[in-house]
Amino acid sequence: MTERPQPGGEGTDPRRRIPRTDHLLAHPGIAAAAATMSQRVVVGIVHAAQARARSGEITPELVEGEVLAALGDRPSASLRPVLNATGVIVHTNLGRAPLSAAARAALDAAAGYTDVEFDLATGARSRRGAGARAAILAACPEAEDALVVNNGAAALLLATTALAGTGEVVLSRGEMIEIGAGFRLPDLITSTGARLREVGTTNRTHLADYTDALHPGTGCVLRLHTSNYRITGFTSAAPISELAGPCRDADIPLVADLGSGLLAPEPLLPEEPDVATALRDGADLVIISGDKLLGGPQAGIVLGRAEVIARLARHPMARAVRADKLALAALEATLEGPVPPVLDALRTDPARLCERTALLADRIEGRLVPHDGRVGGGGGAEVPLPGWAISLEVELAAPLRTGDPAVVTTVQGGRCLLDLRCVPVEEDGRVVEAVLAARAAARGRG
Ligand SMILES: *Cc1c(COP(=O)(O)O)cnc(C)c1O
Repeated sequence: MTERPQPGGEGTDPRRRIPRTDHLLAHPGIAAAAATMSQRVVVGIVHAAQARARSGEITPELVEGEVLAALGDRPSASLRPVLNATGVIVHTNLGRAPLSAAARAALDAAAGYTDVEFDLATGARSRRGAGARAAILAACPEAEDALVVNNGAAALLLATTALAGTGEVVLSRGEMIEIGAGFRLPDLITSTGARLREVGTTNRTHLADYTDALHPGTGCVLRLHTSNYRITGFTSAAPISELAGPCRDADIPLVADLGSGLLAPEPLLPEEPDVATALRDGADLVIISGDKLLGGPQAGIVLGRAEVIARLARHPMARAVRADKLALAALEATLEGPVPPVLDALRTDPARLCERTALLADRIEGRLVPHDGRVGGGGGAEVPLPGWAISLEVELAAPLRTGDPAVVTTVQGGRCLLDLRCVPVEEDGRVVEAVLAARAAARGRG
């Protein structure tokens, strides 16, 4: 590689001393970085350091060290690990469910070639994700069959497309949900060509509203769980147990999108629907997300009657929304492994959280204050989870977020609240260091 001649006086222009690209790339430390980075990235870092020297920002002698430092700091992906100190368990902006150790190990094992669609005993092709399917059915014996797709929204898309085509999807006006970032489930359903048949009113929808709407052009009846809001007061909704009979008589599938991902009732969230109950009550299909309260990877799981699942599985769209091998591996490991982190966080004992929080508050000169945790976008709308937080100077919120490790807290009432519910206990030492560093950074700026 040749370098352009530098303008200016021969020998006196310091820019002539800037190390050449080929010399830098031959440096043992820099060459070693090529083992973990593409040549394009390494050359980019070299050029950036040379440009800084050319503009006079650094001296030519500092270029080599600058390149080495930049190579050392560069993570292999821009997604940074975060300590979630918000007390919100299923935090969509922070990647929802943190995976269990078992699921992380399964991800690693599945990262290379793997028998995801191959029977090693016979050498023949096999059903994709058979292990994940078996784990789901073992965890939820009420389901005859299960199908895993990319996410909950994809499951809803596939179910309404395969069952309704251009026919009608019957949905209560009380369940016209926007799930976040402007995405509306009714729009998702109609985007497939299905027509929405709205029934009932915002606050009350009766069994007769549904049965009056059923006709030969009905593709399916849909119940959407209002996982991120609640309608209270003068309300009524037809339960699945009452809808099931009329739907079966009319041979129309009853689909329940539960969102949250509870396989069985959770005593701490009495209002949250679960798969086992919905299937026992007569739903033909139940849809859940993998990365909410189930505590696994991003996935959409459809459980229910074998014959209805088969209609979904053989629809061409099934291929476009299928789950990848990493999700299948992590999902199976989550279901077969110990209690996942989200359920641990949900079931945190307030007294033990108080003790742990008080100890840490002492170490960082913060104040122990009551602070309710939340389930978050994953369900349990508005249910407060009694807990505690450390109240700190509000100036610490920004340096905590941008520090290493990045710690995300809640700013409320002019204070920075640090909630340990979703922070693994073994990270407490790093939280202390992060707060002390943030305080030093805030002082330095102030
Ligand atoms: C979260 C949710 C979805 C979307 O699921 P994703 O896995 O985020 O695609 C759909 N329906 C309901 C009721 C939900 O709560």
